Amino acid sequence: MAKKAIGGRVAVLGAGLAGCAAALDAAQQGLHVDLFEKLPHPVRAASLHNEGKLHLGYVYAADPERATHRILAEGSLRFLADIEALTGVPATLAPVSRPFHYAVPRDSLVTPSEVEAHFASVDATVMDLLREGAPYPIAYSPARRVMPVDIGVAEPYVLAAFKTSEVALQTGWIADVVGAAVLASSQIRFYGGHHIRSAALASDRVKLEWDSADGPGSNDYDGVVNALWQDRARLDAELGLEVPVDQWLRYKAAMEIHQLTPATVKQLPSLTLITGPYGDLVNHSNGTAYISWYPSCKLAEASGLDAASLEGVLGAVDRSAMFQESIEALARYVPAASDLLSRSANTRVGGGIIVARGKSDIDVIESGLHRRSDIGVHDHGLWVSIDTGKYCTAPWFGREAAATLVNRLAG
Ligand SMILES: Cc1cc2nc3c(=O)[nH]c(=O)nc-3n(C[C@H](O)[C@H](O)[C@H](O)COP(=O)(O)OP(=O)(O)OC[C@H]3O[C@@H](n4cnc5c(N)ncnc54)[C@H](O)[C@@H]3O)c2cc1C
Repeated sequence: MAKKAIGGRVAVLGAGLAGCAAALDAAQQGLHVDLFEKLPHPVRAASLHNEGKLHLGYVYAADPERATHRILAEGSLRFLADIEALTGVPATLAPVSRPFHYAVPRDSLVTPSEVEAHFASVDATVMDLLREGAPYPIAYSPARRVMPVDIGVAEPYVLAAFKTSEVALQTGWIADVVGAAVLASSQIRFYGGHHIRSAALASDRVKLEWDSADGPGSNDYDGVVNALWQDRARLDAELGLEVPVDQWLRYKAAMEIHQLTPATVKQLPSLTLITGPYGDLVNHSNGTAYISWYPSCKLAEASGLDAASLEGVLGAVDRSAMFQESIEALARYVPAASDLLSRSANTRVGGGIIVARGKSDIDVIESGLHRRSDIGVHDHGLWVSIDTGKYCTAPWFGREAAATLVNRLAG
């Protein structure tokens, strides 16, 4: 798959989706890549335990700059084409969820007419991108307002309901495909179980230090991509680079419920409630549902430079209480979800860290959680740092980071 030989050995830090995309792209462009990951296997953190939604931007109805939906839609529309380019696995094989419906609860931070106006601008953006040739995994049609009962939502609790053609992917499927490509690449050496401790920049090299089961280690590289997500800012700050002072980390758990009965699969929608302390339900149609609910699933928070304090958070949680609280809260809006209560034995609990700006939480309209437009790739010469923002932008930004480094080394 190598396109050209520019030589050089680079390191990619963090084997989430962004880091794996950067490593695969750099490898395709002829670089030798050492990919460092503190977990034993690639794609086992936020990029596995998230909901897998290819955001078109509907959920960002409270973004005051109205800028988030465009960047997320751009990432989402090209997501599967990027995965195909990186792995060789045809995009058409990726299983997609039942399309998302949206409902606006009575105590939402936004009104139905604000939601309607926002949805119209999301649809205009998506149609622009589609006209420019962006692919989309299912037939796209603009959001349309429907009666709550048409989407299985309890009338008394919501003010408005919408059908969209937004979908989610099975993150486990993507993780398997991407992880296998990383491990199969002769240009990539995967260092699982290696915790990156520190980095230092010299004029034409970057020195990395790590800890692993074999003890401490270090090496010099021609260039580095920092795709550490929750630990990214700590390393950037150590190098004297500017990091947002208000970056904030939240550990959010999620539950994947397996072996649903065909009757439950038939009844359950994929649903997002906006905007406020609610949650999402994804019906993957393969007998699996995904649910995460605020605040039951928000387990801990920390400053953007202190990811270490969130280690082990999931181990301390009362999983059955979280499961019950989340399903009961969801079932107020979606009565059919109460069927899920009997499935606790078939539920896998996972979680990951959300990186966003500002401490104020999802129940505050000004919260940084309601906007993600200042995300992307930061070029610092031999050190390229990815603020992934969301899962749906990870392959795009990973590839862009690799291209930035390749250009630097080639020039
Ligand atoms: C519950 C939940 C639901 C979400 N839902 C969605 C959604 O539906 N759609 C969407 O677009 N986004 C969603 N997101 C956000 C999305 O998951 C992340 O934006 C995305 O996965 C980040 O990808 P990444 O590759 O940057 O990070 P990660 O996948 O977390 O990868 C970073 C890697 O770096 C490793 N690492 C960290 N520190 C070190 C270190 N010092 N040394 C070595 N390795 C280290 C980690 O172990 C990890 O494997 C959700 C997030 C959560 C938590």
